[in-house]
Amino acid sequence: MTPKPFDLSGKVAIVTGGNGGIGLGMARGLAEAGAAVAVVGRNEAKSIAAVAELEQSGGKAMSVIADVTDKAAVAAMVERVKRELGRIDILVNNAGINIRKPPHALDIEEWESVMKTNLTSAFLCSQAAHPAMKAAGHGKIINIGSMMSIFGASFAPAYAASKGGIVQFTRSCAVAWAADNIQVNAVLPGWIDTDLTKRARLEIDGLHERVLARTPAARWGAIADFAGIAVFLSSPASDFVTGTAIPVDGGYSIMG
Ligand code: NDP
Repeated sequence: MTPKPFDLSGKVAIVTGGNGGIGLGMARGLAEAGAAVAVVGRNEAKSIAAVAELEQSGGKAMSVIADVTDKAAVAAMVERVKRELGRIDILVNNAGINIRKPPHALDIEEWESVMKTNLTSAFLCSQAAHPAMKAAGHGKIINIGSMMSIFGASFAPAYAASKGGIVQFTRSCAVAWAADNIQVNAVLPGWIDTDLTKRARLEIDGLHERVLARTPAARWGAIADFAGIAVFLSSPASDFVTGTAIPVDGGYSIMG
């Protein structure tokens, strides 16, 4: 029988930063489509609440407390998911932070913290998950970029560097692992209402209004806007889609 294009029954997904924001929006979509979801984060209370919510909606979920910048913690996280859920079909590299400062004010520790959380973590998690996907003969990796993968901003030098890097890392993994039947794609969120941007809205004067004025959809994105793209890029529907960077931005990036 031909597989249903958007069915994720029996699949196992890891979502880093899946305990809140965009990651939780994606985790909800994946769980609803039938996948068991491992939610990875550092904050235990947030992770317990996210897992409880996914289970209450009828999904299967588990929490793994891990810092995705730590190679040993990432290796242990992947081993635990394999042991407890049996396999790894889908990896969403979503964990991310920003430190809002112009380039001349950013110190090296801040630069490294942003690069490690946003970019190095995607390398560590992808490399750790690759053997299981290769052995299974298929896999899906989704990396989260940003509008800063395309544009620059005075207040986001390390963030923009990390998110530009995510797109090139995505393309490289897509080429390297095509022969293993692993599709690797990036999603570039526009301005989405989450904890991350709540802080930005407080710190940057007029940001809220500027985003509304520039976004053709005339609204901020919601985390629910990420369920569909997560399911598409994790399912057989996207088996011939690899190396792309898909904006989910209400048209922000095509506005002249
Ligand atoms: P949130 O701050 O709501 O979520 C960030 C998530 O990352 C949290 O779940 C956090 O979990 C996790 N995280 C951060 N550092 C680590 C770490 N070292 N180890 C493990 N988990 C970590 O932000 P968003 O949902 O807004 O952001 C999610 C992704 O989307 C990020 O990559 C961000 O750059 C990107 N993005 C967001 C946009 C927006 O408008 N909101 C726009 C474009 C891109 P915990 O606290 O438990 O560690």
